[in-house]
Amino acid sequence: MSIAALQSSTALLPPDTTALRVYPATIMSTLQSSRPASVPIGSLSSTYAQLPERFYARVAPSPVAAPRLICVNERLASTLGLELGHLDSQTLAEVFAGNRLPVGADPIAMAYAGHQFGNFVPQLGDGRAILLAEVLDASGQRRDIQLKGSGRTPFSRGGDGRAALGPVLREYLISEAMHALGIPSTRALAAVLSGEQVVREGLVPAAVLTRVAASHVRVGTFEFHAARGDDDAVRQLADYVLARHFPLLRDAPQRYVALLDAVIARQAELVARWMHVGFIHGVMNTDNMTISGETIDFGPCAFMDSYDPATVYSAIDRGGRYAYANQPRIAMWNLARLAETLIPHLDSVAERAVEIATASLVAFQTKYTTHWLRGMRAKLGLRSEQPDDATLVEDLLELMHANGADWTLTFRELCGAAEGDVSQMLAIFAEPAAFERWARPWRARLALDGETAAEVATAMRAVNPAIIPRNHQVERALRAAIDDDDFGPFDALRRVLEQPYLECDPAAGYGASPKPVERVLQTFCGT
Ligand code: AMP
Ligand code: MG
Repeated sequence: MSIAALQSSTALLPPDTTALRVYPATIMSTLQSSRPASVPIGSLSSTYAQLPERFYARVAPSPVAAPRLICVNERLASTLGLELGHLDSQTLAEVFAGNRLPVGADPIAMAYAGHQFGNFVPQLGDGRAILLAEVLDASGQRRDIQLKGSGRTPFSRGGDGRAALGPVLREYLISEAMHALGIPSTRALAAVLSGEQVVREGLVPAAVLTRVAASHVRVGTFEFHAARGDDDAVRQLADYVLARHFPLLRDAPQRYVALLDAVIARQAELVARWMHVGFIHGVMNTDNMTISGETIDFGPCAFMDSYDPATVYSAIDRGGRYAYANQPRIAMWNLARLAETLIPHLDSVAERAVEIATASLVAFQTKYTTHWLRGMRAKLGLRSEQPDDATLVEDLLELMHANGADWTLTFRELCGAAEGDVSQMLAIFAEPAAFERWARPWRARLALDGETAAEVATAMRAVNPAIIPRNHQVERALRAAIDDDDFGPFDALRRVLEQPYLECDPAAGYGASPKPVERVLQTFCGT
């Protein structure tokens, strides 16, 4: 992006009052007096619910007909210090469906706005999600516990407030896979069938996902208040996220500039890490970008099979705005929207504030490229930094593109190639001689670092996953659950995804690229 384009993208938001709709300030409570007593699950608190009331709406989950537990992520529960061991499966189902509230819950739906496919929507908000409470995890980090699919809120605009089983399982699998890959992500604590059906591509089973996040504050949360000209709220939100996510910056001389830089740094690293594993988010709207730097909202996301930088899976992304290779540019565009909301707080002189924001945004490119190249070096087994490394990486990518090579398999098999076993590599490339031509300078480059082949291969296997949630595997697991009420394939996939860097039994087929008939070409939000 040129500096000129950047500058125009950091221009102040036009005053837009006509499009604004003030959300109901009234407290909507669907808590029924007949609701069973609340359940103790741990030490819950709520700091977001202490913010002024224009940040959220207080609303309780709407009970579902017949909750049935699909799974609870016990390991995650224990890192959160939650005590679930004394609860039977029916009670767990009721808690994670929202039918019974945990002791200490203060349920709210968060207000946010967002740019969706480039167009500003002044009010979105949690339309089918409810933030139950927060908890301090084992490392003392505050984490949100949120139900998704737990009923309508004042922010539901037309939707039913429910979630279909397919997207719930999809988010469960992919968010947990991201975490296991070592990429910052919201987590999945539980999935529950609600015993109800919702209309999507027909009638489908409904479910509730319990999501855990460092917080649910999004770029769109800042936009919500900025669009209303509510500078006070933007400042309070900025102070809140400084305290929660960047406590060391609270006393920085220009703390809002420091905040902007910190969010930019986290997003630059996050998107670089997506690129390393071939992840395509699919809906990088500003309401789906966290301030904490965690991946969030796994709608039509997908891991790429054959490498093509223009890959798009999402059925709703007709223009390819969120194609694989566009992600860094889009991240920067979204961060420009965040910067705009902070303009009044960056400097008392507006022009100077725009200059500061522009400089911060320009730095995204360097930060991103540094992370990207560092990660790509590691994927190729290169330890030191040499001037021609970027060219070596780009040559490989070009070759992969020309050969339609599978992203994950190529890098995983490259680990073996570092030890001299090129048999698998030659099967991946339609033109094996071209791989050999690329591999000659690569081997010479590896030799410069002076490590043994075994050392190189081991280091490479720790960064090039064998197992990713491949679209066709995910689809198969979802279909079995939706069509046959069979959660076996979901459970099996969930387990192998816990250890993505371990070689798994080739007979199980989890590491294989899809056969032509298995290829999934489109993914859907289906919410
Ligand atoms: P998402 O697609 O998750 O990024 O959601 C975008 C907006 O649509 C948010 O305001 C959601 O809360 C809202 N939304 C999505 N699905 C539903 C639903 N089933 N019921 C109510 N609101 C929804
Ligand atoms: Mg969203």
